[in-house]
Amino acid sequence: MAKTKHIAVIPSPGFSHLVPILEFTKRLVTNHPNFQVTCIIPSLGSPPDSSKSYLETIPPNINSIFLPPINKQDISQGVPPGIQIQQTVTLSLPSIHQALKSLTSKTPLLAIIADTFAFEALDFAKEFNSLSYIYFPCSTFVLSLLLYLPKLDEEVSCEYKDLQEPIKLQGCVPINGIDLPKASQDRSHEGYKMYLQRAKSLYFVDGILINSFFELESSAIKALEQKGHGKISFFPVGPITQIGSSNNDDVFDEFECLKWLKKQPQNSVLYVSFGSGGTLSQRQINELAFGLELSGQRFIWVLRAPSDSVSAAYLEATNEDPLKFLPNGFLERTKEKGFILPSWAPQVEILNQNSVGGFLSHCGWNSVLESIQVGVPIVAWPLFAEQAMNAVMLSDDLKVAIRLKFGNDKIVEKEKIAKVIKCVMEGEEGKGMRERMKSLKDCAANALKDDGSSIQTLSHLASQWDLGK
Ligand code: UDP
Repeated sequence: MAKTKHIAVIPSPGFSHLVPILEFTKRLVTNHPNFQVTCIIPSLGSPPDSSKSYLETIPPNINSIFLPPINKQDISQGVPPGIQIQQTVTLSLPSIHQALKSLTSKTPLLAIIADTFAFEALDFAKEFNSLSYIYFPCSTFVLSLLLYLPKLDEEVSCEYKDLQEPIKLQGCVPINGIDLPKASQDRSHEGYKMYLQRAKSLYFVDGILINSFFELESSAIKALEQKGHGKISFFPVGPITQIGSSNNDDVFDEFECLKWLKKQPQNSVLYVSFGSGGTLSQRQINELAFGLELSGQRFIWVLRAPSDSVSAAYLEATNEDPLKFLPNGFLERTKEKGFILPSWAPQVEILNQNSVGGFLSHCGWNSVLESIQVGVPIVAWPLFAEQAMNAVMLSDDLKVAIRLKFGNDKIVEKEKIAKVIKCVMEGEEGKGMRERMKSLKDCAANALKDDGSSIQTLSHLASQWDLGK
């Protein structure tokens, strides 16, 4: 019998970083059971309920090591989640090292795969004589930007938002400086320095696994491969989401909204959600509520208590009842057409319902992939991180979304919201977007068939590992 080969996987905290790398791990051990995988899991304080319940679903064929949580007081306060996540990993490095050491005392370690925020753990690869891989949970478009960032940083002296011309990354749609990831919008900020450090670290790994698929971003993927970028190999292995991963029929009894959705006509409901932690201001909540009403469409809205920081609930959920922040009489007026879910929703199950015909989304990459997998067009409302880049790709390149435009006061008004929602849900433009989404849905499904591009890419990587280093 072939000797078991051992791989260590290192996620970073935050639901939308934890889930995709662990879903990738599940796929790896299912398709290639000759690899033994251990996940070494850092955390910041006590994880939110969403992460806790997800972690309980890790199957027994994956080993898990839960590291001692980092104290919230030991990291910077009032800074974007990206900084807090990376600091958590940095402070966890001694325990990651210890975990790797104890693993390698039993069997040699073939490879370490780390989430992009956990890149510092790959410094240990040399010591343990293993290969090093980044798991990149965003698009190839964003990866292309990151690989280009060190050069851009050297060549450009102004803030990127002041660039006169859009940036043209090979194989990608042109992007204006203002739409680059939030971490690159203030070059003197600590967050930018960390972002640049993450970008530079990519050049020192053996390979990058990308949560995307060839048919979605073929020209960007080809451009990366042709350019070579030193010794790095690229492995598009997506879409990796929870769709199709678990057969969760129980949720139907648990969530009234799913029963309600079953009774609505096909493609008639707009699902409104800003990801695992996106938040709106009180004024914006009012405009959205009135916009939904004005649009006359059915909707399901995952509502959070307001905050002036767009990522307020990303690492820490609030306990406040969000319903009290809705305009007076809104619930009564919309009770036939609308459904409000406080703070959290079974997103994958909702999107999978035939009655859902549109997704008003902050364009987090997981939500984008999930929307593609069910063939639902998007009303794009980016908030933070790299979401504006995703929105540009969806609207300008793939033409499967309409992006909402903010006014000078950074608010989208109700009339605009209603107009765009109507256009996506029932207009001619919406019809075209739905058709294009349906063909992307087919491409995504094909990529995940046994002979599909992503599954073949994973097999190719596994056979490289099988052959030894
Ligand atoms: N999600 C969910 N229920 C919610 C909100 C989010 O299940 O109420 C899941 C969603 O399906 C997606 C992830 O959380 O897989 C959010 O990731 P995304 O990249 O879209 O956004 P982020 O959370 O990073 O802002």
